[in-house]
Amino acid sequence: MKRILVVEDDAAIRNGLEEVLAAEHYQVLIAANGTQALSLGKKENLDVIILDLGLPDINGEDVCQQLRDAGVPTPILMLTSKSQEMDKVMGLEKGADDYMTKPFSVRELVARLRALLRRERGVKKDLEEYAFGAAVVDFKKQEATFAGKPVKLSVREYAVLKYLIMHEGEVVTRDMLLNDVWGYEQFPTTRTVDNYILALRKKLEGKTTAARHILTVHTAGYKFVREKDEGTGEKKEAKAQQEEGSSKGKGKKQRAASGIAGGDKKRSATRKDNTPRS
Ligand code: CA
Repeated sequence: MKRILVVEDDAAIRNGLEEVLAAEHYQVLIAANGTQALSLGKKENLDVIILDLGLPDINGEDVCQQLRDAGVPTPILMLTSKSQEMDKVMGLEKGADDYMTKPFSVRELVARLRALLRRERGVKKDLEEYAFGAAVVDFKKQEATFAGKPVKLSVREYAVLKYLIMHEGEVVTRDMLLNDVWGYEQFPTTRTVDNYILALRKKLEGKTTAARHILTVHTAGYKFVREKDEGTGEKKEAKAQQEEGSSKGKGKKQRAASGIAGGDKKRSATRKDNTPRS
């Protein structure tokens, strides 16, 4: 699940953003001022930061600059009000990746976030080794294991899996897979895609139903989630993940504890787990 830090002093906008992003299945962290933003921005493993320009203590530009100076590479989407046209240009100079002018449409915001997340992935070097659940996959060597035992995957299965992982947390439609993995020149049916998914689940999750990572999204397609069980939200190297394999539950608890500790220090910095709301 992608983690977004929303930095906004206006409670109405902040709560609105939190609700919208949670509905989009992002995990949302909140900061009401620049000091909290710096603390969370440096400490937390974030995928995107939405940063309001006009903050009560440290302004958004300086927050941005200080995060970059501290080596935080997280994409930053700056929020500005209309009267700050010049400021937003400065914001970009200080290391913001995009900006939006208030009031903004939710749809546009979500589209821009997705673009930033894609860009972030693009910067990452090509996926080589990856671990989830009991599976470890080496895309470079085309080797995979499940529960420590070698598993044989076809070239196409590696390609489908890689595509799903590169779109982690996003709905991947059958058409996306057909276009991007199979290519236009080939004409398999959507049923073919389903069969590949079943094969991957069987090989890498040990079963074809009740998948925990390669999920079916009803009527839409598929979605890969890494953290459903681990709950760490950390982007760890495959090896680290492997070592951790035996203590999944522990990682989850530690994570929760660190969230509470953070909340103590910064009262209004809250963590919301993004469970679907009913
Ligand atoms: Ca503000």
